[in-house]
This record gives sequence, C-alpha cells and structure tokens, in this order.
Amino acid sequence: MAQQKFLIIGNGVTGVTAAMTIRARAPQAEITIISGESPYFFSRTAMMYALMGHMELPQLEPYERSVWKQKKIHLVHDWVTDIDATRGLVSTSSSRSFAFDRLLLATGSCPRQPDWPGLAEARSGVVNFVSKQDLEKCEQLIPSARNATVVGGGLIGVELVECLVHHKVPVRFLVREPHFFHAALGKGEAAIVEAHLRHHGIDLRTNETVARVGLGQNAQVAEIETSTGQNHPCDLLGVTIGVEPAVSWLRTVSTPPKIGRGIRVDDSFQTSIPSIYAAGDCAEIGSSGFVEQLWYSAKRQGELVARSMTGDKVSYARPVFFNSSKFFDLEFTTVGLPHPGAGDREYFSSIPGRPVSVRLIEHNGAFAGISLLGSRWRHELFERWIAEAQPVSFVIENLEKAQFDVEFGRVPMGEVRAQLKRCLT
Ligand SMILES: Cc1cc2nc3c(=O)[nH]c(=O)nc-3n(C[C@H](O)[C@H](O)[C@H](O)COP(=O)(O)OP(=O)(O)OC[C@H]3O[C@@H](n4cnc5c(N)ncnc54)[C@H](O)[C@@H]3O)c2cc1C
Repeated sequence: MAQQKFLIIGNGVTGVTAAMTIRARAPQAEITIISGESPYFFSRTAMMYALMGHMELPQLEPYERSVWKQKKIHLVHDWVTDIDATRGLVSTSSSRSFAFDRLLLATGSCPRQPDWPGLAEARSGVVNFVSKQDLEKCEQLIPSARNATVVGGGLIGVELVECLVHHKVPVRFLVREPHFFHAALGKGEAAIVEAHLRHHGIDLRTNETVARVGLGQNAQVAEIETSTGQNHPCDLLGVTIGVEPAVSWLRTVSTPPKIGRGIRVDDSFQTSIPSIYAAGDCAEIGSSGFVEQLWYSAKRQGELVARSMTGDKVSYARPVFFNSSKFFDLEFTTVGLPHPGAGDREYFSSIPGRPVSVRLIEHNGAFAGISLLGSRWRHELFERWIAEAQPVSFVIENLEKAQFDVEFGRVPMGEVRAQLKRCLT
C-alpha cells in the first residue's frame, strides 16, 4: 500500500513541530518540508544574538542537522508558488512539483509595510527584522551606518534598537503611540522602560512616526521627516511596525483556501479545502478568527495540527496569553489580560529608583492578568491562578511562590506586597 504523503510548507517552529509529531505517529509516512527562507529550522526569537555577533546562525538551529535524515524528514529549500488541491500537487519557483495527500501551510508572518511617501522608491537603507534575509541585510548595512531610525513601538523594534546600540550606531526610536509597547505595558511600566531605554543612549520619541522618507544618491535613504515636521539625517531606517500572516502569495494559486486576516481554519486547523491545513502565525483560527503570533502558541499548534492531520479529533482553544521578553537587560513577563477593560480594577506597585513593577488586573472580582517588570517569574503558576479565578488578595499573598530568581533579590517582595495591599482597600 502506498504510504501517505504529508507535505509541509514552512520550516519554522510550527512546520518542524508538526513534522516531528507526524513522524512519531506515522512511522512509515512520507514527510517533506519545503521552505524558502533557509534550508534548516532556526530559532527566530534568538536572531538578535546573531546580529549582535554573539552567535552564528547555525548555532540558532535547535536540532542537529543529522536529525532530519534520521527521522526521514525530507527537506527542500525552495519557494512554493502554486497549490493545486484537485491534483494534490504543489509547484516551486525552481519548477519542481511535489505530490501530497495532506498539506500543511505553516508559512508564518511577514513584516507589515507602511505607505510613507518615498519609502517604496528607496533602493537601499531600509531594513525589517523578521527573516534570515533581513538579518543579512542588517549585517551588511550596520558597519557603515551613522544615523539610524527605528520605527514601531513593539518587541521586534526594541530588539533591533538594542543591536544598533550594541554596534554603537546612534539610534532614534519613533513610537507612534503615547508610550512604548502600548499593546502590553501600562503607563507606569512604560515610564520605567522608557527611562531605561534613554539611559542606554536611545533618542526615544513617543507620539511620533515617519511622514516622509528622503532619498539621496542612488535612491539611498538619506533623511526622514517625522509627523511633528522635523527632519533628521538617516542612513538606516528600521521598519518594525508589526507583522501580518504571510498569505498574499496564496491569493493567486490554482486552488486558494479561504483567506481573511490569515488562512481561515476551524478549531481542528482544517482550511476550506479538506486536504489542506494551516497553523502557526499564518492561521486565523475558529469562528472568532484570532491570529496568534507567538513562539509557544506556534509550537503547540504544530503538535495539534499534526494530530489532526493524522486522524485525531482536536479542538484548539486559545490559551491564557503569556509572553516574556526583555528590553535590554530589563525582564518583562505578562500573563492573562494586559490591560483592564471597562469595570475591571488595576493594582500597581513600583519601587522608586529601581526598574521594578508589578501590575495586577481584576476582572469580575477575580485575578485575570499580571504584568511584571525587572525580574523573572513562573508564568504557569499565574496561568493556574487565572484559571482558578483566585481573588487578587490571594495572588498578592502568594506572589513569591511564582518568583523564579528569588536568590537575586531583585524584587523587594515586602514593599511590593504592602503597596499592592494598600490598593486593595
Ligand atoms: C525578531 C523576532 C523576535 C521574536 N521574539 C519572540 C518572543 O520573544 N516570544 C514569542 O513568543 N514570539 C516571538 N517572535 C514570534 C515567533 O518567532 C513566531 O510566532 C514564530 O516563529 C512563528 O512560527 P511559524 O512556524 O508559524 O512561522 P515562521 O517561523 O515565520 O516560519 C515560516 C516559514 O515559512 C516560509 N515560507 C513562507 N511562505 C513560503 C512559501 N511560499 N514557500 C516556501 N516557504 C515559505 C517562511 O520563509 C518561513 O521560513 C519573534 C519574532 C521575531 C521576528
């Protein structure tokens, strides 16, 4: 009997987790991963360490290269250009064809592109920071950069800024919103982080973005005009205004699946075409249509979609939100709701003179979210307390149980608890 052919487009964490899971469940199946960006899976979240020169890209590969042969997972380095579900075939940019019984689209995200006048005409000096190709472009431009501007107040932006500071390139950081990382930080935390960034020599400007990009010789970026009408010299412009599902290429394939913000799938990751599945950053899931662009969600979705493709009934429910990041050396953890909604309460504690804060959110009388700056925490415990709908007073009393690096004493727990308790009354 012919073995089932599983074909996966994208060798990111979703695609490789799916391939490994399929292999564990179907020892005889044919498994192929086709990916255009890089021949081997690498850890995208660690790209900044390659740009800072701490690691080479191959060191960011989570698996030994011999694993793929051992597991009989066939890797193809190519771009997929067409999908024909009626014939069960995909075609690539080098005119090769691959047959499939079941196809997984795990094509990830691509950078969102702004429409600033002048940007589309720029032939050099503009960088994103999402792919291996972006990394290589940054490595090429940074040594001669004298005036960098990074636009976009999120995590990718601050990572690029940190790399530029590491390479001693003066950097202006434009954030359109009233404060940095508006999506997750409250005003109090943002004030601490912004002071921290400025302490590192960054010219951080909030409520400001690019209005026009000025070009010099050979259409190289030479200056920017900002939304406040100021002109600044700029020879490296980092565009980090968010990412979106990498789906535009699918609109012109022979048999496109339904696409909204991402590839539309039900909660078992099935697209509108029965033999085709989608998961990870590129997928828009379930009837509420959410898109998750997070490493651990992509990994979890990779496992589940593989189970779904190999016959299990699965139903993906959006997990409690969790993210951990850092702004230079300042750790940040957020679990559950990042901001209070109407009728919710917020409890905030910060330690004067130290980059430390704790902010809790109470929704319907129960603990619903926590954001912590300046230390490392066990997010699983907070997730449990949210699921158990513990009262905020319980969380305050038990806070140190979730502290990861208590031995460093970075958070004066007594002071934090006393402040939070005062908010309770
Ligand atoms: C700089 C940076 C830092 C990040 N830091 C964090 C973090 O700290 N925490 C966190 O939770 N998340 C972080 N993320 C997000 C996280 O990396 C993603 O959620 C995750 O990598 C998504 O995995 P994926 O497998 O769905 O997609 P991807 O990793 O994007 O992989 C998809 C692959 O498919 C390929 N592909 C696309 N179209 C085609 C085609 N037509 N043919 C062939 N190949 C194709 C792409 O080139 C890509 O290689 C970060 C992202 C970036 C860019």
